[in-house]
Amino acid sequence: MLINLYSDTQTRPVEAMRAAMAAAEVGDEQRGEDLTVTALCERVAALLGKPAAVFLPSGTMCNAIGFRLHIRPGGDAVHLHPSSHPVVAEGGGPSALSGAVLAPVSGEGGMFTAGALAAALFPARDRYKPRSRLVSVEQTTNLAGGRVWPLVQVRAVLGIAARHGLRAHLDGARLMNAVVASGVPAAEWARGFDTAWIDFTKGLGAPVGAVLAGSAELIEEAWRYKQMMGGALRQAGIVAAGCLWALEHHVDRLSDDHANARILAEALAELPGITLDPATVETNIVVFGMPGAPGFCTRLEAEHGVRMGALGPHVVRAVTHHDVDLTAVHHAADAVAAMLNVAR
Ligand SMILES: *Cc1c(COP(=O)(O)O)cnc(C)c1O
Repeated sequence: MLINLYSDTQTRPVEAMRAAMAAAEVGDEQRGEDLTVTALCERVAALLGKPAAVFLPSGTMCNAIGFRLHIRPGGDAVHLHPSSHPVVAEGGGPSALSGAVLAPVSGEGGMFTAGALAAALFPARDRYKPRSRLVSVEQTTNLAGGRVWPLVQVRAVLGIAARHGLRAHLDGARLMNAVVASGVPAAEWARGFDTAWIDFTKGLGAPVGAVLAGSAELIEEAWRYKQMMGGALRQAGIVAAGCLWALEHHVDRLSDDHANARILAEALAELPGITLDPATVETNIVVFGMPGAPGFCTRLEAEHGVRMGALGPHVVRAVTHHDVDLTAVHHAADAVAAMLNVAR
């Protein structure tokens, strides 16, 4: 059987979740008549400490609409990490859908400091420069290894944003991983952000759905873009019920994924040719250096039934989740050791 560490998006809905979905009360979602969707939105708004929220088909659409709410097409810039999802994995959406100038702010582990942001901002009233308008923070950082931004660092970044009149957007695709890893509640992480969202299709293990939260005015406007982009739905309670079930049953267990990721990281770090500091593995994502990463991943799956993802020529990502238990994690580490011809 395949041990699938490619991504936590690979989770499949468990029986009890499917039962909750099958039993969901439904209605016409775009008319506000789907009670299950409404319940989910109220739940996530409260979780994130925001007045309102809207259900969307994907996290990518949460970023697309979140950016569109803040960016005025025609020279507005969004400041974000170069490894962040909108930069590398949204098909150019920020420029195509919002007309945004992407202004990367570098930093270790997919995070940047307030100082780096301040230095990257374009001077106001400079006719040559784009207009700094938005800062976007990814919590946890995905491609940079599932790192948890420290709360003080987030607050300092938001302080710079506020001082310069920037809007702030929180890409919380894996915010609940940060909550479980840090003990800091979701609303604390979301405080100070104009828009924030969580995804249900990552470690939470639901098949479809993400919820974007913000002020009543912003969410009302978000509905307009949801309609425009074709994201308004009908009997979406079927999938929203899976999200509600996930909030109830799949949040606390994220700590298992984090423990498994750490065990995997510690095992891999021992192996020759692998570059990895296990101390940087804070949640469920293990990113490590490995020469010839794409070929390595192909052989690992073909010869050992273990799937990981090559992020680049020399970088591999392995993600733990609900469908990979501790035994499977040990098996995966053994498989990598066998490929490198060492015993473990
Ligand atoms: C997965 C992911 C997204 C996009 O979410 P989808 O539901 O896959 O569209 C956005 N940002 C981050 C950080 C992600 O990991």
